[in-house]
Amino acid sequence: MTKTFAVIGDPIDHSLSPSIHNAAFRALGLDCTYIAYRIPRGELKAGIESLQQIKIAGFNVTVPLKVEMMNFLDEASQECRIIGATNTVSNNGGRLTGYNTDMDGFLEPIKKRGLEINGHDVLLIGAGGAARAIIAGFAKERARKVTIANRTTRRAHELARFASGLGLQVDVIPLDAAQSAGQYRFIVNATTIGLGGEPSPIPTKTIGSQNVVYDIVYMPMNTDLIARSKKNSATVIYGYEMLLGQAALAFEIWHNLKAPYDAMKKVLLGGF
Ligand code: NAP
Repeated sequence: MTKTFAVIGDPIDHSLSPSIHNAAFRALGLDCTYIAYRIPRGELKAGIESLQQIKIAGFNVTVPLKVEMMNFLDEASQECRIIGATNTVSNNGGRLTGYNTDMDGFLEPIKKRGLEINGHDVLLIGAGGAARAIIAGFAKERARKVTIANRTTRRAHELARFASGLGLQVDVIPLDAAQSAGQYRFIVNATTIGLGGEPSPIPTKTIGSQNVVYDIVYMPMNTDLIARSKKNSATVIYGYEMLLGQAALAFEIWHNLKAPYDAMKKVLLGGF
């Protein structure tokens, strides 16, 4: 019988996950399908009941449901419990197990390049949902210190408390005080700035070959921050790499098979 997978969230129309996972099924000849299913905030309980009725084999969870999904799990992985959010669920005969592949999906392109995080300083721009998984990643890899710059300082302080709880040294600065980003080894944009073609959230003149600039915005691929950093000879990491990283890890949880990374990447880059 064909196994069905899904991504749930709202909005969901433009999700790239169905293309990525369906490409993987084709590449490996798996009898599986992956759909996008819109579940608005407040309708998660009914949505999950519908998914159970069609015997969903597994699903990804995206904005705005990642935190609320924790209330509907029978079991949660350690990452999921630490981050307090789930992006991947497997269904074994009605029993839902939650995982969070955003953290390792974020780290994967850094590791692939052989870049060391241990002992290095980080500037994290943004303090939303994605930033939590990123903080957990930097804590796991023992960054020396993370400086959080966010438009809303209250949210930055909330994230800083979470970071401290994970043993990270952390401080908070206003977004407009992030003038000399070049002093941080890693510079990560975890805001939505760039999505609409906006200019870089921070000045880039101090950024150079000493920096790793990671923009988790994946559409467009070359955000203003990425383009300027590349011009200044920084090492750049694209948002689509995190997207692929988390998708590959979800695939491996569900199928217990190595993800066909190249097939998944090809369809994703074809979509840009
Ligand atoms: P979120 O929870 O809504 O957080 C949005 C963040 O962007 C907050 O820090 C917010 O600051 C900031 N922001 C929004 N508009 C801004 C503006 N005009 N000026 C300054 N700051 C602004 O969103 P999220 O889930 O963390 O996602 C953030 C981005 O990461 C999105 O673009 C998403 O597509 C991307 N993402 C990529 C991946 C991937 O795999 N590559 C995974 C997850 C997310 P305030 O706190 O001040 O509102």
